[in-house]
Amino acid sequence: MTDSKSKRAPQTRVVHPDIELAPGFASFAAPVMRASTVVFPDLAAVRAADWRDESQWRYGLHATPTSAALAQRIAAIEGGQYALLQPSGLAAISNVYFGIVKAGDDVLIPDNVYSPNRDHGQWLARDFGVTVRYYDPLVGAGIADLIQPNTRLIWIEAPGSVTMEVPDVRAIVSAARERNVVTAIDNTYSAGLAFRPLELGVDISVQALTKYQSGGSDVLMGATITIDRDLHLKLKQARMRLGVGVSADDCSLVLRSLPSMKARFETHDRTALALARWLETRGEIAAVLHPAFEDCPGHDVFMREFTGAGGLFSVVFDARYSPAQIDAFVEALELFAIGWSWGGAHSLAMPYDVAKMRTASQWPHRGTLVRFYAGLEDESDLRADIERAMASALG
Ligand SMILES: *Cc1c(COP(=O)(O)O)cnc(C)c1O
Repeated sequence: MTDSKSKRAPQTRVVHPDIELAPGFASFAAPVMRASTVVFPDLAAVRAADWRDESQWRYGLHATPTSAALAQRIAAIEGGQYALLQPSGLAAISNVYFGIVKAGDDVLIPDNVYSPNRDHGQWLARDFGVTVRYYDPLVGAGIADLIQPNTRLIWIEAPGSVTMEVPDVRAIVSAARERNVVTAIDNTYSAGLAFRPLELGVDISVQALTKYQSGGSDVLMGATITIDRDLHLKLKQARMRLGVGVSADDCSLVLRSLPSMKARFETHDRTALALARWLETRGEIAAVLHPAFEDCPGHDVFMREFTGAGGLFSVVFDARYSPAQIDAFVEALELFAIGWSWGGAHSLAMPYDVAKMRTASQWPHRGTLVRFYAGLEDESDLRADIERAMASALG
């Protein structure tokens, strides 16, 4: 310590500590490096700062070493070059809209889309001079007939995370590419593990890292993953203008969960499939909606493109049960909690009125749909819980 430093007042020495963090320390944890201010070595560095340059640190909102470590891993999972992190999955969706779409443009959204995305599209249509049209997720190559000269963006969701139909992503991408339309897929369902849409030519993959990547039901985060640099920079600039970023603390929580994600995903997948197969044998159930089942619309696409399904599936109860009876069934469950989001250790169940969520396709089922998320509990306990709730509410 120089003499002059030791003469400083205690308060100054609290702000400017005498000792630097010791070099030579190593652990497996990605260090949490928080920042609003990022310190530049000199003014020349400030003046040379370029937001396009991925190797530069400029401001904590845009990137820290901790967020960059997470972004790099998220991009790697599904074969992307770039990932941008947003404070929620919905913020990632919003980042896509504001990065790609302007007044006068047209957007195509599948009828099975995550509901807040549908609402976001309606908001842009109402207040921002964008036209938004909904399409049947099973449209396949027929999407070509819907593309107009001003169509700028086509959303895809494979499968729909409530209704489980699997669109023909290859056919949609090929029609979009031919007409220079950007494609964005909400790939949260597969976590980027079981389906790699960038390899099929989809331009942007969106993840709600809130789900399997966080794995703890306690962090909100989203990501946009791309290969093309110009597209990445468009999204990056919109993200800067929207003023959204992620905290290093939240990133460190996701970084901690990420190595176990594949093992968790496979366990969720096994449990969900076993429950779905058992439910198929029950007289209370009219249909099981799981893309690994042969009668699920888009099953052939699923078998061709996916390596797994994870913990989500839905069932349609027989139409002889009233919606109130199905509500009573869901509330009688003890191990399946009632709540939004998924990807954590705890199983969840939620009834949906699907007919009310659609405008471009006819929903073929009459009974009430319940979506299940199989957590990390023992499968036989989950089965017993469903059986007991059925007996008490539907018996
Ligand atoms: C949860 C979810 C989102 C949004 O994620 P949040 O982090 O909750 O905003 C987007 N798409 C799908 C399919 C989701 O399940």
